[in-house]
Amino acid sequence: MNQPTSYKRVMLKVSGEALMGNRDYGLESATVRRIAEDVKGAVALGAEVCLVIGGGNIFRGIAGAAAGMDRAQADYMGMLATVMNALAMQSALEKQGLPTRVLSAIPMQSLCEPYIRRRAMRHMEKGRVVIFAAGTGNPFFTTDTAAALRAAEMECDALFKGTQVDGVYSADPRKNPKAERYVTLTYLDMLARDLLVMDAAAISLCRENKLPIIVFNIHEPGAFTAVMKGEGKFTTVV
Ligand code: UDP
Repeated sequence: MNQPTSYKRVMLKVSGEALMGNRDYGLESATVRRIAEDVKGAVALGAEVCLVIGGGNIFRGIAGAAAGMDRAQADYMGMLATVMNALAMQSALEKQGLPTRVLSAIPMQSLCEPYIRRRAMRHMEKGRVVIFAAGTGNPFFTTDTAAALRAAEMECDALFKGTQVDGVYSADPRKNPKAERYVTLTYLDMLARDLLVMDAAAISLCRENKLPIIVFNIHEPGAFTAVMKGEGKFTTVV
């Protein structure tokens, strides 16, 4: 039988910046729609898909702290930004006809469900796309770490990290034309070479849980669906 994808359940991490499209701030609806279409393509392959969306297009705690705010307070604002993005993505996914639930690490009962692991699992088993909002619910963490944490909790087969370029490079390929793209890497390579694709806490969590990280270009239309089929360019970290 022709197997469209070997993945049964996957986590997709999308940074807030990826939702900005050509704008300097906030959301570009055409970009959110394109990513939602890509998620639909992946779901059509028969996989269960969950998402963590960052908040950097709206607010980052570290920027608030640099401007003189209390860091923890600023991080809570960052987490609220991820909830806004999650609601925008939910709307876009529903427009694609995908049943979707937002589960927030910080309870906001008028907007979405609280994060309860068993409930999240059940939603996924029923074929709903689950979006985990508000990161880990704790300041001083990132949404990369939230994605690794929820992927481990949901027993995902892999964490797909959509970035600005088609994999992990030895240097920024947009600045250095000689930068080399890695096809595969180990978690320890990523940590030792300080390859800044994900923060160290997220990489360590994936390593401890033997969760492969697949890095690909989220700006390429249909890239997530293609990479789920093993097509296109990407870097696998194992
Ligand atoms: N954040 C947090 N705890 C978490 C996840 C996120 O405090 O578990 C805050 C933090 O301030 C961060 C902001 O939310 O800067 C937005 O998340 P992130 O920077 O990871 O978003 P991305 O870079 O993926 O857009």
